[in-house]
Amino acid sequence: MDDDPSVGGGAVGKAGDTGIPPMDEATIRAALARLTDDRGVLLVPNEAVTGVVVEGDWVAVVLNPEQVPQDVLPRVHRHLAAAFPGAAIEARLADRVHRGGAGFGIGRHVVAVLGGKGGVGKSTVAINLALTLSAMGAKVGLLDGDLNAPDIPHMLGVHPRERPSGVGWDLWKTDVTPPSRWRRPYARFGLEVMSTGFVIAEDQPPLMTSRLMVSALLRHLIFEVAWRGDILLLDAPPGTGDELQVMVRELPLSGAIFVTTPQDLAQMDAERTLTLLSEHGVPVIGMVQNMASLQCPHCQGEIDMFAQSSRLADTGVPVLGRIPFDTRLSEGADRGEPLVLGDVRGLVAGEFARIGHLVRRWLANRDAVEGR
Ligand code: ADP
Ligand code: MG
Repeated sequence: MDDDPSVGGGAVGKAGDTGIPPMDEATIRAALARLTDDRGVLLVPNEAVTGVVVEGDWVAVVLNPEQVPQDVLPRVHRHLAAAFPGAAIEARLADRVHRGGAGFGIGRHVVAVLGGKGGVGKSTVAINLALTLSAMGAKVGLLDGDLNAPDIPHMLGVHPRERPSGVGWDLWKTDVTPPSRWRRPYARFGLEVMSTGFVIAEDQPPLMTSRLMVSALLRHLIFEVAWRGDILLLDAPPGTGDELQVMVRELPLSGAIFVTTPQDLAQMDAERTLTLLSEHGVPVIGMVQNMASLQCPHCQGEIDMFAQSSRLADTGVPVLGRIPFDTRLSEGADRGEPLVLGDVRGLVAGEFARIGHLVRRWLANRDAVEGR
């Protein structure tokens, strides 16, 4: 197992080998000087470009938020992608990083797994769904974004050799980190894995309550890690507090999956999150009803675990699947052996396969819309 993330994960070829027109600060600035709106007005004045970082076939362009509106980023990206075909382009403005597409690159998606409450099964669903998508042939990363309870490493049996000794990375630096200095994620069961738990020491949580810190850390874990996956599942923090606000506002989320129990109280909290998502234009893929029922060990009949609420379904959120209560899910979590791997043909794995198909279809549609 490759459990030793090292610096230098970014695979970057040399410009010139790749047939990309020569890229350097001058050619990038010259290309931006040709980007105008319908009336011929220059969109990015030269002095609004505060930084250009080129490394091989990768370029980051940093723009001044005082001079350029945020919605120009996709246009800057498209324009440079056309001028330097084959190059990896990053357009930055304040807290925003745009790499094309809906997520963190063209055809590369960040999907948040969230729910109003803690303990409803977000991490359990995120892990088993990630493994299911991976078994279907997708390249999948799993980012544990729960700052107060980074459970993913434990549930996957990933135990870094080194304890985090505090914030290992300088989250406050403003300069751009090129791909040669990105960290490699951990590898486990064919997934790429990163966790806030690898970056912050357990005895440092108070630091993380700051909204700016949360934002810096999550952006860092998305943009300065050499993810190779096409789908990055983000196990999101609970609640509608600061963390979620930051996430929804600043992270490139392609869509969100809700995890709830059938209980009205859990769905009420989820409803608040739903409002926040729609305010910020993050589409909802659907919901997973977890701990939906229990099979009676004697008569094999279905027992409802909670009073069944239809609150979320009534708002039009489609149900992607229903996961029963199954003690093997929690036992497996404690052993670091997710159930979909242990019981490939079982009922729970079957339900995750259904959810996986629906998620892939949804993302393919999202790409089609984005590409138009
Ligand atoms: P969250 O990430 O929302 O806080 P977790 O995924 O950590 O929730 O789940 C909370 C607890 O419930 C864990 O101990 C987990 O193993 C257990 N659990 C989650 N889903 C199920 C299920 N369907 N059946 C049995 N136990 C479950
Ligand atoms: Mg969790």
